[in-house]
Amino acid sequence: MERWNAGKSADLYSINEWSSGYFQVAGNGDVMVLPEPGALGRAVSIADVAEGIRARGFDMPVLLRIDNILDAQIRSINENFHAAMEELGYNGRFMGAYPIKVNQQQQVVEKIAEYGSRYHHGLEAGSKAELIAAMGTMLDQEAVLICNGYKDEEFIDLGLYATKMGFNCVLVVELPDELPLILERSKQLDAKPILGIRIKLSTQAGGHWADSGGERSFFGLNTSQIIAAVDLLKEADMLDCLQMVHYHLGSQISNIREIRTAVNEACRVYAGLAREGAQVEYLDLGGGLAVDYDGSQSNFLSSRNYTLKEYCTDIIEAVMTSLEEEGIAHPVIITESGRALVAYSSVLLFNVLDVTRFQDTPIPESLPEDSPSSIEYMFQALKELNIRNMQEVLNDVIFYRDETRRLFDNGKVSLRQRSVSEQIFWTTINEINRLSKELKNPGTELSELERVLADIYYCNFSVFQSLPDSWAIGQIFPVMPIHRLDEEPSRFGILADITCDCDGKIDQFIDKRGTRRVLPLHELRPYEEYILGVFLVGAYQETLGDLHNLLGDTNVVTIRILENGEYEFVSEQEGDTVADVLAYVQYDPKRLFISFRKSAELAVREGRISPQERREIVAAYEAGLRGYTYFER
Ligand SMILES: *Cc1c(COP(=O)(O)O)cnc(C)c1O
Repeated sequence: MERWNAGKSADLYSINEWSSGYFQVAGNGDVMVLPEPGALGRAVSIADVAEGIRARGFDMPVLLRIDNILDAQIRSINENFHAAMEELGYNGRFMGAYPIKVNQQQQVVEKIAEYGSRYHHGLEAGSKAELIAAMGTMLDQEAVLICNGYKDEEFIDLGLYATKMGFNCVLVVELPDELPLILERSKQLDAKPILGIRIKLSTQAGGHWADSGGERSFFGLNTSQIIAAVDLLKEADMLDCLQMVHYHLGSQISNIREIRTAVNEACRVYAGLAREGAQVEYLDLGGGLAVDYDGSQSNFLSSRNYTLKEYCTDIIEAVMTSLEEEGIAHPVIITESGRALVAYSSVLLFNVLDVTRFQDTPIPESLPEDSPSSIEYMFQALKELNIRNMQEVLNDVIFYRDETRRLFDNGKVSLRQRSVSEQIFWTTINEINRLSKELKNPGTELSELERVLADIYYCNFSVFQSLPDSWAIGQIFPVMPIHRLDEEPSRFGILADITCDCDGKIDQFIDKRGTRRVLPLHELRPYEEYILGVFLVGAYQETLGDLHNLLGDTNVVTIRILENGEYEFVSEQEGDTVADVLAYVQYDPKRLFISFRKSAELAVREGRISPQERREIVAAYEAGLRGYTYFER
């Protein structure tokens, strides 16, 4: 047999399919991160970075951000649109707007504003807090600042002030009731608003977020409400303020046909508004540009059946076709891609703490004299197992294992006898699993054994804190070891986190065809860390995460890869301490400490501990309050 090598690992984990050129496996078995696709000469080993993080005193789990990838993705989206516009002879422009909700961290938004300014890539705010963040971050007056979300007077006023100051701040009317208030505030503040209308499309997209679009969507105006808005604006002599048509079909739209259909429908509305006399100029298609998490390039939920280039081309073609028919000038096309912009730039790294195996154990040559018949039947079945009677033996051992458990519950089988029955059971299952690999079509029950027998790798992270979408909506992210990939992974496992919750696990993994239930992994080596990475986690995961079991924010480290291929640590943010997370749930850590000291003093007075012991115990408690919420070595 040919020896295992890094290339085989790359294939096994489909890294070249999902990484969009940002991650690769090197010959030495390390996962490398590239500052931009194709920049092999500047690739950096993630294992090296992890080592550097540890040397600086930061424990796992760590969220690693790679600045260059944000930069490269902004460039990629803008340049793909520019290229497609040039190729198709489009007369309008493209402008991006980053939706802050996708990753609101100041560092991320600031970087996007900085890297985005050369393309006038703007921001989108969906709430007052996001608008306040955007107004404090944005400097570029040519970029757009788009205000979505349900707006109160304060929100509207802030938007109007931004317009007065010279920003391209668009107030998007999401619900009919907002418009009279916007008109009133504009008059009060003597500001001329730039208005958009969010429209309800009848086009509906599939996927988790389908309810954002379609006629049943919560936000947006239907056709009669649009007409009523136009009439109201006409009456106020402000129809020229209406400059944008906006919609958002939902996130992670995996089918390009749905994107095209929606663009076409929106263009008809745009044309209709132009005919009504509105000075429409911007067509904002919202988000939806999907990430190919599983690398299958299909219309699976976790994938997309189009490339970025096709996305741009199809949108521009659809706009040109429908508006040219109506004799309307090409609009400025805006997209609010969030997921596709930031997903690639973060990797969650954690170490494996322990492994449980459902392994065969040596079976005695013969059973003790007094064994109940149910155990004897199991023993017999195991001896007779061969490739032809596998299913029958499987049925038998399950039946007699259950029978033995029943007898145990009735006090007719001893603890020791039950343990023999469980051993025979697992040995038989393991043996059947091995034999079933020789079959071409093993059938569903036999294929399921792989999952039943999977090792459990206990990992130092919390699904609820760091991968909330994995828990809440079954989102699949690529997971793989970041080193040792020149060795064949000889085990199959599922991942359990350190919350004591049975939902705190990852047991669905990417596969070229659909999903798989087990992940190929390496054996742990004594005294050596085994580190796994969950990739493409830059979008939505950080802020949606919660404090289940009071596991807090992880450490976050940002690197930037330099021109010479070296890298620098741009920033390190310490994760939550125990005191931090306790304060989030309204504890006062100081009061806890004082009260604990009192208990310890009482224990001294009662003679349970010495004053010296008290000092040690109190110091340990205090160190615990200051410490990381995750497992520390
Ligand atoms: C969430 C949202 C987006 C971002 O969508 P992605 O699919 O992440 O690109 C854009 N626009 C609006 C209005 C949104 O609500």
